[in-house]
Amino acid sequence: MQKIQNFINGEYVDPIKGQYLDNIEPGTGKVFAQIPNSNQEDLEKAVEAARGAFPKWSTMPTEKRSKILHKLADLIEENLEDFALMESRDNGKPLWLAKAVDIPRASTNFRFYASAIVNFSTEAQVSEGFMVNYTRRAPIGVVGCISPWNLPLYLFSWKIAPALAMGNCVIAKPSELTPMTAFLLGRLANEAGMPPGVLNILHGEGKGIGQAIVEHEATKAISFTGGTTTGKIVGATAAQQFKKVSLELGGKNPNIVFADCDLDEAVKTSVKSSFTNQGEICLCGSRILVEDSIYDAFKSKFISECKKIVVGDPLHAESTMGALVSYDHLEKVDSYVQLAKKEGGTILLGGKKLDKEGFYYEPTVIEGLDETCRTNQEEIFGPVVTLNKFSSEGEAIRVANSTRYGLSCTIWTTDLKKAHRVAHSVHSGIIWVNCWLVRDLRTPFGGMKDSGIGREGGNEALRFFTEPQNVCIKL
Ligand code: NAD
Repeated sequence: MQKIQNFINGEYVDPIKGQYLDNIEPGTGKVFAQIPNSNQEDLEKAVEAARGAFPKWSTMPTEKRSKILHKLADLIEENLEDFALMESRDNGKPLWLAKAVDIPRASTNFRFYASAIVNFSTEAQVSEGFMVNYTRRAPIGVVGCISPWNLPLYLFSWKIAPALAMGNCVIAKPSELTPMTAFLLGRLANEAGMPPGVLNILHGEGKGIGQAIVEHEATKAISFTGGTTTGKIVGATAAQQFKKVSLELGGKNPNIVFADCDLDEAVKTSVKSSFTNQGEICLCGSRILVEDSIYDAFKSKFISECKKIVVGDPLHAESTMGALVSYDHLEKVDSYVQLAKKEGGTILLGGKKLDKEGFYYEPTVIEGLDETCRTNQEEIFGPVVTLNKFSSEGEAIRVANSTRYGLSCTIWTTDLKKAHRVAHSVHSGIIWVNCWLVRDLRTPFGGMKDSGIGREGGNEALRFFTEPQNVCIKL
C-alpha cells in the first residue's frame, strides 16, 4: 500500500511524529493509501522553508516566475493519465471526468496565472501639478492555502497558482480525503524549477494541521475553500491576527426555469448541473424552480433524461456518475433523503444507496417540498435535487433568495430583459443565463451571504495575494 509524504523545502519527508491516516478509495470502500497526519512540528519545518525561500522568490523577475509556472502547467498535461487516475481513485469521480475536466483545468490554472502575472499592472493616480500616487503591490510573504475534496487538484491549484505567481511562498493543505494529486504535484514543482521552500504541501486533518496553518503567525493571508461551518472557524481564527482571508464556502443554488426557455436545452443542462461529479460541485443547482405552466413538461423530460444516468465504478468509461467521496458523506446524503420524506417530499427518482461495495448513491429527484423546509435550505452536496413550482417572476426571485447562501444561480429564459432583471435581483455571486459552469478565469469568482467573502479569479486573486502600499509624491 502506498504511503505518501509531506513536501517540504523541495523534498518528500515523513511526518515527524510518524502518524498516518487511512485514505479510503470511494469506488471500493477499501483503504488504498496512508497519508501523514501532520502536526505543529511539521508546520514549523514548512514555515522555516517558506520564510527562507521568500526573499529570492519574491524578487525573482516576473518573467522567470512565469516560466516556472508555465512549465508546471506543461508537466501536469504530460502527466494527465497518472493524475486523472489518482484523482478518480481518490475522490470517486469518473475517470473520464478527471481526464476531461479536473486535470486539464488544474493545468490551465497554472498557465492562466503564469500569463496573468506578466500582464498585471498596478494603479496610479496623477493630480496634475500637485501629486502623483501609485500603488505598490508587494507579495505578502508566507500564505496558507486550504482546499476541499470535491475538485481536488483543480481547487488546490486555483489557490496556489495566483499566490505563487505574485511571489508568495505557500504552505498548502489539500483535503485529507483526497490528498493524492497534491502529493504528485511536489515532484513536478521540482522538475519545473521551482526553488525549494516556495511550495510546501502538508497533509492531515483539518482541525489539526489545517487549524495550525491558520493560527500560525507566519501565514499572513489565508485562502480557504470548504464548508460554511469550517469557514466560520477559519475566519474567526484569522481575524485574531488581522490576517487577510478569502473564504469560498457552501451553496444551495437555485436553477430557475421560465416558461419561455428553450426547454430541451434547459433540461439537458439541468441534468448536468444537478448530477455532474455526483452533485459534489459547490456550483451545482440543487433547487430547480420551474414556472408552473411548463412544470409537468419539464418534469417528465428531466426525469426521463436522469434515468439514463449510469452510476458505477469510476474507472469504467460508461459510468456517468461514480461514488460519493466517503462513507460519512454517503450517510449524510441518505439522511437528507430520509428527512425529505419526513418533510412530505415525494421521491420521483432514486433515493437509495446502491447495493454494492463503495459509496454509491442513486441520482435523486424530490418534489412537493416547501422552500422553508430543511431539505430546501441546507446544503446536501450530493446527487439530490428538489423540483419546485413558481407562478410569477417575483415568486421565483423570492424563493431563490430564501436561503442563507448566495453562491450561484442559473436562469433559463429567452427574454433578455427578464434575464437581466432577475439576475440583478438574485443575491448570488455568480449568475449563469442559459448555461452552467461556463467559466472565464478573468472574472471574479465567489459567493454572497454565507457562501463566503472575498473573490477569486483574475486580478481579484492576484490583488488578494499582495500587500498594497500607496506611495504619494508631491510635485
Ligand atoms: P470542509 O470545510 O470540511 O474542509 C475543507 C478543508 O478545510 C479541508 O482541507 C479540511 O481538512 C480543512 N479544515 C477543516 N477544519 C479546519 C479548520 N478548523 N481549520 C483549517 N482547515 C480546516 O469542506 P469539505 O467537506 O472538504 O468540502 C465541501 C464543502 O466545500 C462544501 O460545503 C462545498 O460547497 C464547499 N466548496 C465551496 C467551493 C466554492 O468555491 N465556494 C468550492 C468547492 C467546495
